[in-house]
Amino acid sequence: MSIKKPYQAPDEGLIKKYGDRQGSFYTFYPMNGLWKDEAGASAYLEAIDEMIETRPDAPLSLYLHFPFCMKQCLFCHCFTVISGDKDDHGKFIDYMLKELEILQQHFDKRGFKPNFRELHFGGGSPSIISEDDFRRIWKALEPMLRAEDLYECTIEIDPRYEMSVDRMRFYHDMGVDRISFGVQDFNPNVGKIINRVNPPEMLEPLLTDEVRSMFKSINFDLIYGLPSQTSEDFKQTVQDAIRLNPDRLAVYVLGNRPDIYRHHQSFNKHYMAASIETSGMFVDAVNEFLENGYEFIGIDHMAKPTDVLAIAKKEGTLFRNAIGYTPGRSSDIIGVGPSSMGIVGDHYFQNYYTLPSYYEALDRDELPVVRGFVASDDDVLRREIMFDVVLYEKISKAKFRDQYGVENFDEYFAPELKELAEFVTDRLVEIDADEIRITDTGRFYQRQVCKVFDLYDREHGYTHSREFDDGTAALDRKVQLQT
Ligand code: SF4
Repeated sequence: MSIKKPYQAPDEGLIKKYGDRQGSFYTFYPMNGLWKDEAGASAYLEAIDEMIETRPDAPLSLYLHFPFCMKQCLFCHCFTVISGDKDDHGKFIDYMLKELEILQQHFDKRGFKPNFRELHFGGGSPSIISEDDFRRIWKALEPMLRAEDLYECTIEIDPRYEMSVDRMRFYHDMGVDRISFGVQDFNPNVGKIINRVNPPEMLEPLLTDEVRSMFKSINFDLIYGLPSQTSEDFKQTVQDAIRLNPDRLAVYVLGNRPDIYRHHQSFNKHYMAASIETSGMFVDAVNEFLENGYEFIGIDHMAKPTDVLAIAKKEGTLFRNAIGYTPGRSSDIIGVGPSSMGIVGDHYFQNYYTLPSYYEALDRDELPVVRGFVASDDDVLRREIMFDVVLYEKISKAKFRDQYGVENFDEYFAPELKELAEFVTDRLVEIDADEIRITDTGRFYQRQVCKVFDLYDREHGYTHSREFDDGTAALDRKVQLQT
């Protein structure tokens, strides 16, 4: 049992003052709303070449984005294409394999053997990929990586479709060792409203002792603040989750952007908990998980002490990247599939969202990169500060002197420290000559602390990540399936 004292819900004054100041999730910095479309495929290959020259053994993560889903969950922000048609899936996989082949040809030309240590199947719903197609993908990966070299191989699972213990055995036999279930809320009434009904009885038969023994870690994603969801509903979902005993949970707040996602527009017909209630939902959930042996390891993650993320936090290797919290075995990501992101050192890249543009680039034998960004020294410094806030709840001034050459932290960050003064007054942050520390109440405002260090946000703000030509076009379903 954890001995951590339960957290107190922030008072109404704090919620009113800081609730709307949430920055992004800071999985990288600056966020992709600022990336530029002139950074294309050739810049990506140059960044890879630079890595080959300077850090040939750098451990890498490979992320494969399969965008198809059977139905649109109404809360979703992910890049999805709604189709259960296996011909659509097969055609897409042909193209995704072409993208892998272009990368492999480039590696071969350079005589480079990439040191892939993590493999992630994300989406969309990668668990609706047929077993034959899944084997086809693994076969195509063979020249690039060996399953036995991977620290971690994960897949996101939608429990509603084609899921069985046999399918779990299949994943295990293929080398998958961590699985993540999108649950969001177990309540069927909430489920109907968000177009995603997955009660506990759907997961229970899948989580047999045999299945648990096959995977190093089982994750659930939950969301609070969903339309029609009450505090009591969410408490019950938390209880059901604890009973089903995952190793790790991500507990996210609903991001409601009806201006970007048409499917969010239906929410206004339903009861939506106010921020005072959603804050309470999250604090209650954190306390309940703590009482049941989980640790609060990040802004929105809970993990058992035996889970690799909890261990990484204790050992100081916990890391954050476009995939989310990771044990820190690799910071560079090669992203494959539409909308996926590549992060190679200080270079960021993102692929096209629209399938026609993604396919056209591959038909030209080009990597389908739509935009990118080169982080400056100052960006990298601020990124590290934000990561320290969301990973370890403190910023050590000495670290930034020793590792980044910031001789006088207080002078370099004078505007930020001035802005943080009110966080200190409100007891969200403590500052002394050596450190900036997040307090217990501050745990619920870590994104707001990061935002203080976000120079782009302060100077001109961000557009939403989908507010550019290809991102907006991809919100039109007809465009996605016209190929
Ligand atoms: S939540 Fe998952 S299954 Fe639902 S639409 Fe989004 S990506 Fe697809």
